[in-house]
Amino acid sequence: MSTQKQTALIGLSLQELTSLVEESGQPYYRGRQLFEAVYGQRVEAAEQISTLPQQFRATLAQRGFAVGLPEIEKKFVSQDGTIRYLMKFDDGQSVETVWMPEGDDGEAGDGSEAGSDADSGTGRRWDRATICVSSQVGCAVDCQFCLTALLGVKRNLSAGEIVGQVCAVLKDRKVAPPQDRVNLVFMGMGEPFLNYENFMKAARLLAEGVGIPESRMTVSTAGIVPRIIDFGAEPVRPKLAISLNASNDELRTRLMPINRKWNLEKLMSAARDFPLRAREKLTVEYVLLDEVNDSAQNAREVVELVRGLRAKVNLIALNPGPGIDFRTPAEKRVLEFQKVLTTAGVPTFIRRPRGRDIYAACGQLKRTLEIAPASALPQISA
Ligand code: SAH
Repeated sequence: MSTQKQTALIGLSLQELTSLVEESGQPYYRGRQLFEAVYGQRVEAAEQISTLPQQFRATLAQRGFAVGLPEIEKKFVSQDGTIRYLMKFDDGQSVETVWMPEGDDGEAGDGSEAGSDADSGTGRRWDRATICVSSQVGCAVDCQFCLTALLGVKRNLSAGEIVGQVCAVLKDRKVAPPQDRVNLVFMGMGEPFLNYENFMKAARLLAEGVGIPESRMTVSTAGIVPRIIDFGAEPVRPKLAISLNASNDELRTRLMPINRKWNLEKLMSAARDFPLRAREKLTVEYVLLDEVNDSAQNAREVVELVRGLRAKVNLIALNPGPGIDFRTPAEKRVLEFQKVLTTAGVPTFIRRPRGRDIYAACGQLKRTLEIAPASALPQISA
């Protein structure tokens, strides 16, 4: 058996699981049982699915089916409670997934309930944890301030590998949605809209199977305009965040070369046409780079760009890292930038950096593992 290539159950839809059980001569309702075991109970092995007859569990194993959760290869714990997981897949490739026990304020004011949980008094140390999920191994978008970009793209993650990261973290944290409230942000390694089908399938499985409502999920894109349009037409979809990061085309092309393909006019036009649901707001992300894109003039340009949009702006002061030629602005500059926007009536929030001491903050994932000796980081073994 160990030499046989295993096929993952995680990542298959209810329909696909139903076909699978029927092919094995089982009644169709066993498809639902499998679906609930994989996504709802998050079993690690098919043998653990107690609702299935023993013999069918054996058949699944013989046919080479396994649940297919990623392996937690490493785990780093930050002083602020953030946990960075290195998740390893069958082919040896790995990505990072980050657990933030109190979120990072990225959900604040986006018109959903995600940022305003009143669910305390549960005895937990958190009441609105956020999991930051990766969508690709590395990234093909060449943002100059991002460490993941330095890796290049190795491959897309499958839907199962995207869902698997969430299931593995939930298991490790002993957390069970929907009773436990969890937000998801697709803001880890990779550009979700360059792996659109797998990302969307994962989002649907996470909503239907794992029990995390799509209104508690946010996907962030560097600005893949045709996919923003497709995304707006999805019947079930997370909320949308757009990484703006610059206030004019010249600057944006310098910082995010993808701006040559889809410039600000195209991007903002897609943002304006994006069909928001009742009370929903678009999130516009803006990484502040000291004396590059963080002047009062830049802020005024951002005000003009977002005018007429039902949006809020999230400011992220650069998380520095090896190989990144930008500096983090002083807090005073960040506050001044925010002031220009709020004064103009644009709701603007500053995202708290989480897990900086373990390089888990935005743009810092994975790459640092190759550079920072793992022994220098507070690690607990998986
Ligand atoms: N590819 C997607 C999602 C991953 S990046 C996107 O570009 O949106 C998630 C967020 O982290 C983006 O808003 C990105 O601009 C930001 N980011 C990247 N590198 C960063 C860094 N070094 N410091 C702070 N934020 C960073």
